[in-house]
Amino acid sequence: MVVVDGEKIRAVVPLGEVPRDAEVHDCGQAALLPGLVDSHVHINEPGRTEWEGFATATRAAAAGGYSMLVDMPLNCLPGTNSVAALEAKRRAAAGQCLVDWAAWGGVVHDNQADIEGLAAAGVRGFKCFLVHPGVDGFTMVNERELRAALPHIARTGLPLLVHAELPGPIDAATERLAGADCRRYGTYLESRPDEAELAAIRMMLALCREFSFRLHIVHLATGRALEELRAARAEGLAVSVETCPHYLYLEAENIPDGATLCKCAPPVRGRENREKLWQGLREGVLDMVVTDHSPCPPAMKRLEEGNFRTAWGGIASLSVALAVVWTEAERRGFGLKDVARWMAEGPAKLAGYGARKGKIAAGYDADLVVFDPEGVFEVTEERLHHRHGISPYLGEKLRGVVKATYLRGTAAFDEGRFPGGAAGREMRG
Ligand SMILES: [Zn+2]
Repeated sequence: MVVVDGEKIRAVVPLGEVPRDAEVHDCGQAALLPGLVDSHVHINEPGRTEWEGFATATRAAAAGGYSMLVDMPLNCLPGTNSVAALEAKRRAAAGQCLVDWAAWGGVVHDNQADIEGLAAAGVRGFKCFLVHPGVDGFTMVNERELRAALPHIARTGLPLLVHAELPGPIDAATERLAGADCRRYGTYLESRPDEAELAAIRMMLALCREFSFRLHIVHLATGRALEELRAARAEGLAVSVETCPHYLYLEAENIPDGATLCKCAPPVRGRENREKLWQGLREGVLDMVVTDHSPCPPAMKRLEEGNFRTAWGGIASLSVALAVVWTEAERRGFGLKDVARWMAEGPAKLAGYGARKGKIAAGYDADLVVFDPEGVFEVTEERLHHRHGISPYLGEKLRGVVKATYLRGTAAFDEGRFPGGAAGREMRG
């Protein structure tokens, strides 16, 4: 029994020790998970609210079992690269959020002087791109610019989240593929080879050794990097790694030509690679699974021409990510404890909330998910809840149904309804 007192978990006790005055909610045969934390979400507000926004992203989150999101500093306008931009984001979020949220700050080519101010103002860490991010309003950094930023980042003690692909191997592949059919998934896959990820990760590990900062690799897609990441950890480097539901579920062999809903960067790779990522989770080289929820208006996916070169790269999955991961995890012999570690505890720790969110334990926020691990459903537009009902998971049959999501003791989502209203807060400290 989980004893909730106001917004907090007071205790976890055996059935016989329920306090006399307690009001009891029986969840039946359902499992109780800690509220999920997603440390990789593109909310896109302010500036690109027509892509997504605080109201719609947090609604999808509540329906998906998430009680907290950490927003990426890009795709919104302005990018969260200065304290003024962070304040604009806070104004945009006010009164709209169904679950708690926090912000990552951006590290771009020219904002080294803003880094420590952003940390003092409450960002949970930083994000940078080593390759063009595919969107205006946020610039990539090269090694020289990164070297100028890293002493500031190290002083904050906060993690640096890195989109780890280097342009060199991508440019070379793109040149080789000139004239190739852009509707073919194989062309897109070849244009972003494993080597781009491997080279970026090698560079970041060397910088981590030199500057002693907390390094976090976002959305690892290549299983070929696991060996070096394992060695870096054995050496004692402060490096953590995430992957995403789409890399664990989709496989390049089954992505039809023109299916741009499956476009993301780095790309979904082959079946054998996917199994390596599962092995990375099994061995603990991968710490967490986060969505990289990155929606756009349907027109930007260029569904009619099916052109992988011009389509927006991003996959929206907040409301179904838990079922996507559980469907695949269960058939590989993992349990709900593993899923909770990857999708709640790991991301909470990364964002600096390891003592407050991501676990069912005394003193933690009463963020809980009532989850039916046996339930099976088909993904329909009505289940998605983010702004535009498109997703590569539409039509998929998934296992695991979120019945309710509690945010600090109150139901944010309950059997298709959102009774809690905009009770989400920014988590700063
Ligand atoms: Zn992202």
